[in-house]
This record gives sequence, structure tokens and C-alpha cells, in this order.
Amino acid sequence: MTKSITLTIDGQEVTVPAGTTIYDAAKEAGIDIPVICYHPHLSANGLCRLCSVDVGWRVQAAACVTQVAEGMNVNTQSEAVRRGRRTILEMLASTVNLEEAPEILAHLEAYGADKTRFNGGEKRTAPIYDDNPFYLRDYNQCINCWRCVQVCAEDAQYTFALSFNGRGFHTQIGTFMGDGMPDTTCVFCGQCVGVCPTGALKPKRQAMLEQGLSPDEIFQQTRRKRKKQ
Ligand code: SF4
Repeated sequence: MTKSITLTIDGQEVTVPAGTTIYDAAKEAGIDIPVICYHPHLSANGLCRLCSVDVGWRVQAAACVTQVAEGMNVNTQSEAVRRGRRTILEMLASTVNLEEAPEILAHLEAYGADKTRFNGGEKRTAPIYDDNPFYLRDYNQCINCWRCVQVCAEDAQYTFALSFNGRGFHTQIGTFMGDGMPDTTCVFCGQCVGVCPTGALKPKRQAMLEQGLSPDEIFQQTRRKRKKQ
């Protein structure tokens, strides 16, 4: 029989099965913890730390990966928690282009984040990769949430076309040795595009529509050309 754990979240007593994460326990109690890298159908890695909450430890705990414990007292909205979230969002806004990331923009608004706070800081820049007929990769909009890598790997597709290149601040999602997408194991299933929260991965047809191309022009440019017999 699964052991039950009782804890307190924002003053509310909650009982959940052992092994439940703080994020899921809070959800069970009707308390929303903000997330960016977390996706309900993918493995959680606690990368973005936006879901960090106060559990009385020296450092805050990432709710998406931290399991509940008996008697735990969780505060999801303390001043320190809100300040941490605000700073994470401000750093993201200074580093990458979030114009097509509506969920993150909503978090910026909700936490009163100042998009210009770190103006002048280094940006993570990259060329736009337009190397296949199906989708574009604009890593100027990428927050390294890892969702595309996970969905391409063990979480769904088992294709392993995506990984990362570089280190530290310059870490960037990419392909093995920077190969063009058609030269990788990619099967163009579109799952990475589907889970990308920022518009960094975009269907080429959508991009062309946004550029004002007609459906005929788009069809001409994105359909597979047959070889002449
Ligand atoms: S391309 Fe999109 S899904 Fe992949 S890491 Fe960047 S933001 Fe996340």
C-alpha cells in the first residue's frame, strides 16, 4: 500500500501519496505554482527554477522535482520566493527574445518584473537555422528549457536528433556537430515544435504566413519536390 504524506502548503493541509512532487501536491490543493521548463508529459529537470518555493531549507526547492515530506511546510508566495521569480524572469528577458513567449510574458506581468533591469547585459545570440522544409530554429528566442531535447529523446520520440552545444552562458540547443537537420536522425515529427514555449521552433508554413506569403507560394516552397523519372 502506498504511504501517505501530510504537509502544509500556504497554510493548507494536504495529504498525497509518498513520492508526489511539491508541484503536484500544490496542484491537488488548487494552488498554482508557476513553471516554464516543466511540461506535464515530459520528465521534470528543475532547470528554470521559476517553480522554486520556500520549504525552510537554506535554499529554495524546485517544486517540479522535489518530493513532499511528512510535516513539510511549504510557502509558494513568500517575498523571497516572489523576488527570486522576478529576478529569474528579468534575467531571461535581458538574455533572449521573449516576444513570442506569451506564458513567460504573463509571468513577467504577474511578478512585476522589469524587462529593462539588466539592459546592457550580454545577449545569447545565434543565427536562424533554416535548413529544412518543415521548421525554423531561432535560438535567439531559446531559453534552454530542454523540452525539445527530452521529447526528441526518451520522453517520446527516441530519435535523439537534438542535444546541446557550448558551455555555461553560451550553452545552446543544437545538433550533433552542428549538422543541418536533414543530416541528423530527425524524422520531422514536429514534437519539438509542439512543446517549445517560446517560438524558438516554428513551423515554416506559420513563419511564411506571418511574412505575408500566399498559400500557393508557401506550398511551392515547402512541398517535397519529386525527382523527374
Ligand atoms: S528550442 Fe524551445 S523547447 Fe527547445 S530548449 Fe529552446 S525554448 Fe526550450
